[in-house]
Order: sequence, then C-alpha cells, then structure tokens
Amino acid sequence: MKVNPAYSTKASLLELYNKPLLELVFEAATVHRQFHNPREVQMSTLLSIKTGGCPEDCGYCPQAARYHTDVDTHKLMSVESVIEQAKAAKENGSSRLCMGAAWREVRDNRDFDSVVEMVQAVNDMDMEVCCTLGMLNEDQAKRLKNAGLFAYNHNLDTSKDFYKDVISTREYEDRLNTIENARKAGLTVCSGGIIGMGEAIEDRIGLLMSYMEMETPPDSIPINALVAVEGTPMADQKPIEQWELIRMVATTRIAFPKSVVRLSAGRTKMSMEGQALCFLAGASSIFAGEKLLTTPNPEFNEDMEMFKILGLVPKESFADGEKPVTHEDPILKKRKEDEQLRKERLEAAKKEGFEPRKVTVTNA
Ligand code: SF4
Repeated sequence: MKVNPAYSTKASLLELYNKPLLELVFEAATVHRQFHNPREVQMSTLLSIKTGGCPEDCGYCPQAARYHTDVDTHKLMSVESVIEQAKAAKENGSSRLCMGAAWREVRDNRDFDSVVEMVQAVNDMDMEVCCTLGMLNEDQAKRLKNAGLFAYNHNLDTSKDFYKDVISTREYEDRLNTIENARKAGLTVCSGGIIGMGEAIEDRIGLLMSYMEMETPPDSIPINALVAVEGTPMADQKPIEQWELIRMVATTRIAFPKSVVRLSAGRTKMSMEGQALCFLAGASSIFAGEKLLTTPNPEFNEDMEMFKILGLVPKESFADGEKPVTHEDPILKKRKEDEQLRKERLEAAKKEGFEPRKVTVTNA
C-alpha cells in the first residue's frame, strides 16, 4: 500500500486532519505499528556543505542572498572536512548524512565533481547519503546515483496554491520535475513541507495531495515547523502550536503508511512530551545535531536522553533499502588522471632545469 486509499481525496484528508486530536493520534499509532517498528527512529545529520548566497527568494530561508540575515556564508566545504563531519555524525548514532548546498540548481562544474566525491566517500563509510542541492536534471541525478547516493531531498514546501506566496523565483512544476528526475535515476525521494508560514489548513492538505497524486509518493516526508528568522520576509510569523505539528505528523503517517515521516525543523520549540506524541503518531526519523543547516536543533546528548526516557533506539543504516554500490565516476577519474599527468610533467620539467614562475599576490 503506497498510499492509504481511505484518504486519497482532499475532503477525506481534511476530515482526517480535523479529527479530535487523540483519536487522530491513536489511528496514526495503529497504522504506524502495522508498517514500522515503533521503537526505531532514524537519526539523520543535516550538514550545510555550502552556506548562504543563494539567488532564490524562498520567504522562510535565511540563506537567500537578498535577505539581510546573520548567516555566515561559506563556499563549498572540502571533501576532507565532510568526511570528518560524517565520522562524528556516525559516532553520535546518525545513520544518514544529508548534505545541503544553497544552490538554485546543480551545475556541471568542479563543485559538483566534489559533491560526487563526497557522496562516494560517505557511502563507503556505510552511512546512507542524501543530498539537497536544488534543481537537478536526470543525468546529474544518475551521476549521483552512480556515486552511491541513497536519497535526494527536494521539498515541495506547501500546496501548489500557496507556493507563489512563498517563492517567486521558480515554479511548483520545477520542483515536481526535479523529484521526477531523482526517481528516474533510481534514487529514493525525500520531500516534505513547512507549516506555520501563514498557510491555511487546506494548504497543508494540498501539500499532501501533491504527494498523493504522484505515481510513487516520497520514501520519506519531512515535516517542518517554520523557524522564523530575523531578516527574512517571514520573520514575524507567529510560531505554531505544537499540536498543529502533531496533527500534521499524524495525518501524514496515516495517508502514507510506508513512508518515513521525519520530524524536522522546529523541535527546539517542542517539549519532550510533544515530541513523544509525534513519535507515537508515527514520526520515525529526526534530524540530529545542534544545527539544521543554519537554524538551531537539539543537541545529540539531549536526544539520547529523550530516547532513553521514551525507550526509543536509533535505526541502523540501510534498514529500508540496500546499500547503493559506489561506481567509479568517469569525470572524476579523468580529472584525477589529468592532475597526475600535470604533476608528472612539472616534475620532469623541473629536472630539466625549468623553474615555475612565482606568483606574488598583493592586496590593493
Ligand atoms: S531554501 Fe534553498 S533554494 Fe530556497 S533560498 Fe534557501 S538555499 Fe536557496
């Protein structure tokens, strides 16, 4: 059962969402137990590999270059630094590393080559690798798949109707196309939304309907609560009540019984009791680590304490799908061969008495 046939229309989903809360949670918990081990929670670490300076205008995002926020921009991290971070995440219990780059779209350049190398390295560490890099075409998706990428994240964020109030620099259709490209390449899809951006309840249902209408719904669906950041157009949005997040998690769980529902941004504003209700209602994944790209998140230790109290255990890597095989990337191979050749030629030339020109950089 890819989707729950009892809730495949907007009206039935809306009715479900509006059920008395405890009935909704009970129904979600019942569905959750049929398809998942309720004690297991997948821990993912979200790592910002390229931060800020994004040309897009997503109204919630502090990384958009056009907003004046406190985000420290940094260019693409080195492969070595990513490996260090992945090791630390693994030691802390994360089974998945999600690497996020603040790009509008993937470009076929050296930075993308480096991301391919990062994917290979982290997959070889027996961690599930997910990337969120903006729009991508089918060839780029295939290249990532070939490198060992497990999942591609691309959120629809909200309903098609409300989307234009959140983002104007790209269309809903662009998002759907990228998801389709990831699917065609054989990647698992992670796609979800944000609540608390000023949308109506119908928009939350509209988001779920977009996934209902897909041939295959996302394998994981992150549900975020807006973290309103100073300097963004949504800075003054009133925080949502945790009950709304619990409702959204429960409704998503019932509608998509097999998908992983990820309780994502906004956990710092929730009590442990609120989070416990989300786990009961079918959340089976969280983001671990003190930062979610640029916004705060509970620390590893706090989460481990919560797991102990609630009797939860971290899920093993590749429990929901086989580990992808890392294949050699022809572009990377050629690049490395060219670099090696250049080094050898330089060494040979030096032996012949050639002295490389020294370049002095002076600050103006
Ligand atoms: S959400 Fe992504 S695409 Fe949108 S502004 Fe932020 S980094 Fe750019």
